[in-house]
Amino acid sequence: MRRIFLACAALALPLAAQAPQPLSSRVVAYQIDARLDAVKKTIDATETLTYQNLTGQPLDTFPFHLYLNAFQPKSSVSRELHRGDPVWELKNEERGAIEIKKLEVDGIGDLTSQLRFVHPDDDNADDRTVAELKLPKPIAPGQSVTFRITFHDRLPQVTMRTGYRRNFYLVGQWFPKVGVWWHGAWNCHQFHANTEFFADFGTYDVKVTVPRNFVTGSSGDEVATVNNPDGTKTVSYRGEDIHDFAWTADPNYRVVEDTWKGSAAIVHIRLLMQPGHMSHAGRYMSALKGTLDRFDRWYGPYPYDRITVVDPAPGALASGGMEYPTFFTADTSWLIGKGVLLPELVVEHEFGHQYWYGMVATNEFEEAWMDEGINTYTEFKIMDSLYGRNSMLNYAVLTGTDADSQRRGYASVVRNDPITRKAWQFLGGGSYGGLSYAKTGAALLTLEAIIGEDTLRRALNTYFLRYRFTHPTGEDFFKTVNEVAEQDLRWFWDQAFYGTQVLDYEILSASSEPVDPDAKENKMIYNSEIVVHRKGDFIFPVEVEIRFDNGEKIRERWDGRDRWIRYTYRKKAKVVSAEVDPGHRIALDVDFFNNSRLVKGDTGARRKIANYWTMVTQFLAAAASWLV
Ligand SMILES: [Zn+2]
Repeated sequence: MRRIFLACAALALPLAAQAPQPLSSRVVAYQIDARLDAVKKTIDATETLTYQNLTGQPLDTFPFHLYLNAFQPKSSVSRELHRGDPVWELKNEERGAIEIKKLEVDGIGDLTSQLRFVHPDDDNADDRTVAELKLPKPIAPGQSVTFRITFHDRLPQVTMRTGYRRNFYLVGQWFPKVGVWWHGAWNCHQFHANTEFFADFGTYDVKVTVPRNFVTGSSGDEVATVNNPDGTKTVSYRGEDIHDFAWTADPNYRVVEDTWKGSAAIVHIRLLMQPGHMSHAGRYMSALKGTLDRFDRWYGPYPYDRITVVDPAPGALASGGMEYPTFFTADTSWLIGKGVLLPELVVEHEFGHQYWYGMVATNEFEEAWMDEGINTYTEFKIMDSLYGRNSMLNYAVLTGTDADSQRRGYASVVRNDPITRKAWQFLGGGSYGGLSYAKTGAALLTLEAIIGEDTLRRALNTYFLRYRFTHPTGEDFFKTVNEVAEQDLRWFWDQAFYGTQVLDYEILSASSEPVDPDAKENKMIYNSEIVVHRKGDFIFPVEVEIRFDNGEKIRERWDGRDRWIRYTYRKKAKVVSAEVDPGHRIALDVDFFNNSRLVKGDTGARRKIANYWTMVTQFLAAAASWLV
């Protein structure tokens, strides 16, 4: 999802002749028949889930996510969001729920009464976001099991990427969804205030019945539409090799369609626009095509034949900037002028998730940075590539990049948690966002200073091709980058990802003193001294540039291991300035203001300089974090 700053080796199955090769090992097959009640804001549905036991061992327990139960007063999400607020109350329209009315297992029978709510992550016995079913006999390895479920949803007014706003519906996390067998155990976490999702790949055949005047869109391909006698219509969708299914409906949507030809497929683009935002459809479309092009050329092919972009209804802010497979929500307002590239940024970011969440399906509960953080880094690169150095703000005097704008987000929380913390265990929302998104993005930009931008791009390409349609871990990512860069970067991963060290270098002093103050001006020789200080605990090699008043420049390289280093020069020239990281490559440095010093006057009086670049970037970080 877009961060809200205020809070923001496939196993091919046997195939029929000529059937296209599945992209993923299809562990799950969902068939859902859902009917929306647009008056009561509820859904009644039946679900048939066939689960292939590819775990290599017998399974007799199955956990299911029931995410909509997070929108209840005593849920863990409610507890986490309103911790310590004694007067907080969940309003009626904010409540959501999912109830399993019946659960049958083929060959076994009705097991509805056997469902038990479990809370694997905390001590909250009132949380009902995970239910577990124990079967009377195990499912053997290689066998499948079919669950037949009848369920009822009560949708909340849009919150946390799902719900309704008047007649706008974003229906996400809305059906009983089985957990993932991962590293020898079920992985099925409760819903939390700070977390996203994790699921297995498979197929989805979903029918949605809505009032006939509604326009719908979903994670699947539309395969049929039937008008019913009662004034409704039933739209059938099929999605393959995806791990979630969301859909939307709104009678107000205006549909804008186009195609884009990639290296693997012709991609059908469908924008579902609010009427008041039609003037922004072109901005969405060009940002999306530019992003598709960069991902295709840099990181790997986009293999699906579609992408649907939902423009949320006014007032449905909590549904903006969210990704689902082959389907995402954008975000704009008619108030946003051409100079604020927020609609473009959200489209780029949410499309990026198609790669790092949609195909490289990492565990967002446990390693959120692998999706949001890698996606933030690729967002920096693509926004810069598409819109240049003014990729966030582009007004006459006010310009700045996306990367600059995010720095502030993590600098204030860098000591709180390591990036690799489980999502719900971060100190708070600011820490989760600042570290999972911005710090990871800045860490990967910083890594470019060590291995080079091109090498990191190749590493991401290798990582994508190797791990798409699987569930890799952080260590898989680190291993892949090490391999492509042909160096052991453990020292960097340990500090930047597993550690909480602060990266901060400063010019502690810079001065020039005449050796003989009485010498003639043209014979004057100066002793110059520069002290560079590592203020933080993060050890990182740096360059230092020293400029002299005769135009001479000296570049020094320091491994940063000691706390400080002193450079001395004996020259006919005086030092004018000293700057650590003159190429501005170390994005993780939490304070750019202390990176340079200007030496002024014969006495060697010193003052800090904030050069134009530093001023602009730090100002913009503040401005943009407020804007977004
Ligand atoms: Zn995101």
